[in-house]
Amino acid sequence: MKYLTEFRDPGLTRKLVQKIENMADKEITIMEVCGTHTMAIFKSGLRQLLPHQIRLISGPGCPVCVTPQSYIDTAIQLTERQDVIITAFGDMLRVPGTEGSLMAQKSKGRDVRMVYSPLDVVQLAAENPQKEVIFLAVGFETTAPTIALSVEQAKKANINNYSILQSIKTMPNTMEELVREEDIQIDGFLCPGHVSAVIGVKPYRFLSEKYSLPAVIAGFEPTDIIMGIYHILDMLDKKESQVRNEYTRLVTEDGNLKALEMIERVFEETASVWRGLGSIEGTGLRLRQDYESYDTVKKLGIQAAPEQPAKGCICGEILKGKVSPLDCRLFSTKCTPETPVGACMVSEEGTCAAYYRYKPNHF
Ligand code: SF4
Ligand code: SF4
Repeated sequence: MKYLTEFRDPGLTRKLVQKIENMADKEITIMEVCGTHTMAIFKSGLRQLLPHQIRLISGPGCPVCVTPQSYIDTAIQLTERQDVIITAFGDMLRVPGTEGSLMAQKSKGRDVRMVYSPLDVVQLAAENPQKEVIFLAVGFETTAPTIALSVEQAKKANINNYSILQSIKTMPNTMEELVREEDIQIDGFLCPGHVSAVIGVKPYRFLSEKYSLPAVIAGFEPTDIIMGIYHILDMLDKKESQVRNEYTRLVTEDGNLKALEMIERVFEETASVWRGLGSIEGTGLRLRQDYESYDTVKKLGIQAAPEQPAKGCICGEILKGKVSPLDCRLFSTKCTPETPVGACMVSEEGTCAAYYRYKPNHF
């Protein structure tokens, strides 16, 4: 298939669903670990099309959702300082901390600004030399290259009042952690599209080689996703385990070498704290020693806030695919996209937000 319209072809989708129906003779659980897949699955009504034996569960695929509450609390504490400007992508402003949110701080007159790129923040720092200009560096391998570039640019231009509050996460080792969890049964993975465009196919090979699990890198159109599910069933049927790349129009075996080099120059692997999953070794990126002066925590000598999950919120269990948002007693009562209690209800790609928007019969 060459053109995007072919990936939205209802006729082809129906044919694939028919094949899946013929193959689904037992319950099969497939986890997607990408916020845009979660949204696309709900938006296109794929869950309703698939036979009931196919259980789709959403993993920790949205960067906003997986950022721990302690990180938000640290950012909120920083806004109380007169000498800082806090900058972040839009969704981060709405994530509830233990008390309030960055948006609430902004409405109290604190200097919190929404940005579209960390590169704009470097410019903002150049224009405000009397302030420490901090970017909330949240995201996966997709955002990491631009953040790396912003740090390199700041260093090159001798802009020393720019720093990042680090919470960049990486996907493959997190997927391994989920596979190792004893009480989660995953029969196959739909691997994230954009992350894979950066890291390529290779980093997922352990799924098939070490755990005999089928995995498919899929795009975001309905036919992409259905094709991905079909490939997983096909492998299970043939008792094969491979990592298949269905998203060849964007993803290559080795990934985006330039982006990977950029990440490698500026960052090194570290442990990272995930909402609900705790600290996992090898799932985060931190600035290399040469760039440490751009680390907000080290530069300002601050203490990270302690982790205090929101009362009654079961985001952590949802991110592991153990329960669904419908199991949360706050869902659609106290917690809605307008009044989110937990992060999974904030971002459009959050599982709770997707359930709220596209599952009208939850009321
Ligand atoms: S792959 Fe892209 S869409 Fe999916 S979670 Fe990562 S950044 Fe979001
Ligand atoms: S519905 Fe709200 S409170 Fe419940 S798990 Fe989701 S985000 Fe947390």
